[in-house]
Amino acid sequence: MTQLTNMQVRDIEALVHPYTPQHRIREIGPLVVEKGHGVWITDSQGKEYIEGLSGLWCAGLGFSDEEMIEAGIEQLRKLPYYHLFGAKGYEPAIELAESLKEIAPIPISKVLFASSGSEANDTQIKLAWYYNNARGKPDKKKIISRVKAYHGVTVMTASLTGLPNNHIDFDLPVARVVHTDCPQYYRFGLEGETEAEFVARLAASLQALIEREGPETIAAFIAEPVMGAGGVIVPPDAYFAAIQPILAAHDILCISDEVICGFGRTGNWFGCETMGYTPHTISVAKQMTASYAPLSAVLLPQFMVDALDSQSAKIGTFGHGYTYGGHPLGCALGVKAIEIYKKRDVVGRVRAMAPLFAERIRRLEEHPLVGNGRSKGLIGGIELVADKATKKPFDPKLGVGGQVNAFLQNRGAILRAMGDTLGLCPPMIISEAELNELFDRLEGALNDGEDWVRRQGLR
Ligand code: PMP
Repeated sequence: MTQLTNMQVRDIEALVHPYTPQHRIREIGPLVVEKGHGVWITDSQGKEYIEGLSGLWCAGLGFSDEEMIEAGIEQLRKLPYYHLFGAKGYEPAIELAESLKEIAPIPISKVLFASSGSEANDTQIKLAWYYNNARGKPDKKKIISRVKAYHGVTVMTASLTGLPNNHIDFDLPVARVVHTDCPQYYRFGLEGETEAEFVARLAASLQALIEREGPETIAAFIAEPVMGAGGVIVPPDAYFAAIQPILAAHDILCISDEVICGFGRTGNWFGCETMGYTPHTISVAKQMTASYAPLSAVLLPQFMVDALDSQSAKIGTFGHGYTYGGHPLGCALGVKAIEIYKKRDVVGRVRAMAPLFAERIRRLEEHPLVGNGRSKGLIGGIELVADKATKKPFDPKLGVGGQVNAFLQNRGAILRAMGDTLGLCPPMIISEAELNELFDRLEGALNDGEDWVRRQGLR
């Protein structure tokens, strides 16, 4: 282990790092980031890295967009804070809501703001319950999510998240949450099963789950178009088309969690457009402001807004809202980010870069460590395996994904290891040369990883 810098020691003494092995933080040594430019970040010792995950799948315009910075400063000068409670408003919130209504892939009546993706999804669940109470279906309250989904970390959204690390010792999931299958053919397809058969099996399994639980007890189904933190899982093209009629037949709301996929990431404004389904409501966050400030939102259809109206009439108010929900700084930055996405044709840019991105991921599949590569637009992942032929994973305790990620960091690029899957989600402004550089560094790190695996005697 190299000597820790003074800044790293201060960091360790003062901070709890999320999603970090707390007991090993000294050994790992925090990467203290000082500044960013374009798709690059610089650490406190002056070393530069390509940010291949846009921070946490969110900094879609990179780290130094002057138009964004100016828009933020202007808003801070004018009105640094206000709120939307008690019938208050301000133009950036109005303008952003109008803009979201215009780009949404489904008819949207109104927008309800929050600050984080977790809050947006938590709000979705509360509204699904509220809606079913409003229409006299008080027993219709369960939510179906999927194994390996990621919807956040509040008590409810961590319950919806289908990953053991988010449940173990947090006493989760809570009641009313049921998980259905993960649509990853590579990992969960059976021996000899075609992709079409896999999709048919998952649809039948969802149908069986609904019948078992009782459709009259199920309020909603929540899904990411492409699953992110569960390991960048791209469902088969036919998946959503197969399950959507089952949800519709049982009067189950479809919530699209577009927290990662929204705003161009998959090559359309929204991931549900890319994956071919029509949700009733949508959660957005992250790239909405390109993450220059925190902000999230729930996009609501008319019938849900009607339910808010009728319940308010009954009890006198709508008892929900966050102090920072629709913060003026976030809203001003959201307005500006969407304006930039439009005028620089970010969707077109993602589409133009997607073939190179997919081709470089496909090439990585030839590497001895890589069992599977997948991508959609500019989001992708590679899954490391002990045996390519049998798809046998490494023992998770070995931390092979984390090890390769550490080698990559040494080589000057940042990705995210989710178990033994490395996620790629570079800022949508990345140039062709920078994208190639990111993949060259990743190839180097995989070679380092292969040497390490052999030195450890793991093959
Ligand atoms: N939904 C999805 C699809 C996400 O990827 C995330 C965060 N990675 C969340 C919800 C939660 O967002 P936040 O961390 O802002 O609460």
